Amino acid sequence: MINNTTCPYCGVGCGVKAEVRDRDIIAVSGDAEHPANFGRLCVKGSALHETTGAKDRLLTPRVDGQDASWDSALDSVAGRLQQIIERDGPGAVAMYLSGQLLTEDYYVANKLMKGFIGSSHVDTNSRLCMSSTVAGYKRAFGGDLMPCSYEDIDSAELMILVGSNAAWNHPILFQRMAAAKKANPALRVVVIDPRRTATSDLADLQLSLKPGSDALIFDLLLSELERRSRLDTDYIAAHTEGFDDALAAARASAPDIASVALATDLAEAELAQLIDWFCNTEKTLTLFSQGINQSSSGTDKVNAIINCHLATGRLGKPGMGPFSLTGQPNAMGGREVGGLANQLAAHMDFASEANIDRVQRFWQAPNMARQEGYKAVDLFDAIERGEIKAVWIMATNPVVSLPEADRVRRALAQCELVIVSECMAQTDTLELAHIALPATTWGEKSGTVTNSERRISRQRGLLAAPGEARNDWWAIAEVAKRLGYAAAFDYCTPAQIFREHAALSGFENQGSRGFDISGLSQISDAEYDQLQPIQWPVNATNPEGSERLFSDGKFFTPSGRARFLAITPRPPVQQPNASLPLQINTGRIRDQWHTMTRTGRAARLLQHRPEPFIEIHPLDAERFGIRDGEIAELSNELGRYVARASVCEQQRPGEVFIPMHWSRQFSGSAISGSLIASVVDPVSGQPEAKQGRAAIRAL
Ligand code: SF4
Repeated sequence: MINNTTCPYCGVGCGVKAEVRDRDIIAVSGDAEHPANFGRLCVKGSALHETTGAKDRLLTPRVDGQDASWDSALDSVAGRLQQIIERDGPGAVAMYLSGQLLTEDYYVANKLMKGFIGSSHVDTNSRLCMSSTVAGYKRAFGGDLMPCSYEDIDSAELMILVGSNAAWNHPILFQRMAAAKKANPALRVVVIDPRRTATSDLADLQLSLKPGSDALIFDLLLSELERRSRLDTDYIAAHTEGFDDALAAARASAPDIASVALATDLAEAELAQLIDWFCNTEKTLTLFSQGINQSSSGTDKVNAIINCHLATGRLGKPGMGPFSLTGQPNAMGGREVGGLANQLAAHMDFASEANIDRVQRFWQAPNMARQEGYKAVDLFDAIERGEIKAVWIMATNPVVSLPEADRVRRALAQCELVIVSECMAQTDTLELAHIALPATTWGEKSGTVTNSERRISRQRGLLAAPGEARNDWWAIAEVAKRLGYAAAFDYCTPAQIFREHAALSGFENQGSRGFDISGLSQISDAEYDQLQPIQWPVNATNPEGSERLFSDGKFFTPSGRARFLAITPRPPVQQPNASLPLQINTGRIRDQWHTMTRTGRAARLLQHRPEPFIEIHPLDAERFGIRDGEIAELSNELGRYVARASVCEQQRPGEVFIPMHWSRQFSGSAISGSLIASVVDPVSGQPEAKQGRAAIRAL
């Protein structure tokens, strides 16, 4: 039997057809009808069926190292949480979630913590991925609202990719960009990235800028737009506010091409070319990803990009807009239900008493949290201090992926109660669990995810769960019942949860919030089962969904106008020095996903890059006595990273690139997070994972 579902790896959110035979998925192919991919799959997606089944899975709950029944494991979770809450208060309890969770799992977790336990310490690995974009959109548009659609790639005339190796990290979208360029040779592609990557192959102009200096380029663009009279003054006057302050700040930080060229390590001619194309191309799409977000000034960078689009009125229309490419399959779905510590649910947050009251009334919540909780880095700091005594981690591996990974490991090792919901039998984080709960995974669980273009798609449960594995929403609801909240968590199906989530999005909304899927709040179980991919908002005004936002020039700020932000660019905090002379860039490789707990088990996916590596420029290799292929060590005050050196010219001299995937489980001592300091963006809390620093030596 062939079934439709959605790929669980990246934010492109490709539709998948899965062939099920004899209780196994024996083949996958791209869904030709799905608007995210029209039948294509990348190498990760096409290997999905190679990682399903019971092999290497966590199959039984475990309590204090012993196999346990679900009943006794859930009793232990609820009993120990209750004890800690009574002794230390609800703020001693936290959850750390994941963009791998389905929206329904996320919704129930957030509801239990923020409405019923009364703790807002609920954060997610999306903090490491997208939170600067969330903060930037909120500042500019009054909500976490991504205006564009994948279709805009097809009609764009200028595409600027900033901090994005889409060829490896959003491969199907990159193929769409390549196809657009082939169909329209006049389409120009600019890649702004310190490294030359596979994405650079499509570039008409590559700007290998000094790491972290992106905002200067966009400040320069803003001031040059004004100087060359290329502003859309009507749009600015009718639909925005704050332009004069933003322009003044841009002029101050980027007074001319020469000074920006100097500060960014770019040639004046390169900048002049970009300015010329930007000033003269109406259909401009700026696509950005982790190179922008994972920065100590990521939110400002996002707003510097948005400023240029507002100044030209280039958003809400085909072929243009500031387009963030989400990393995870459900990074956006998690944000919709309030999976970040500063959010409530349905794009409401703690900044408004009215919103807190609204969500409390909707949930009939007895213990509503009233102020925002700890963001990811702060949350694990609070665990280290002993302030947070219990943490429930779901579908993520923070002792590998967080900055200062070794310190995070030590913090968890001394935490009073660590609960881990996990589908795999062995992960670095699972080793530290007092209570381990076996979770269903792709192919077994059922629910929805939202991709980078706001498109909600169904993941479908096609296989029986192996062993004792259960859905995360079910486990959370069972704990909620044991804590005394049976009526509010009496969920039997994901459809029931989805309808409640959709209803909350429309509750007392009246057009005040951009996220609104109330048009789906009454769907039957059968309609949910058959739900076709659809872009939100989905409501009475847009019953068939919405390709783009802001086409009417109305925003969700109090004034209804989009906000310019005055940006003063800041360099990275982690600067190389005499003893730590190399800047570290971290990122993904083409065929692996996150900490490899699933993709690392597909032999085919390991062939591309079978082991961790350090990419180093030939000049640095000579300077530090490193030979191609030999084992080298990067080290700094936080830790060390040992891997084989790969001498190549992709990165600039003075910089090295290391992959983010490997863990103790797969490599021993090549955890990129061990070298990255817990430096975060002050607005978003997103760590500066792209700009570490280290020394290198051959071993
Ligand atoms: Fe999956 Fe992303 Fe590849 Fe599509 S591009 S198949 S969503 S990993």
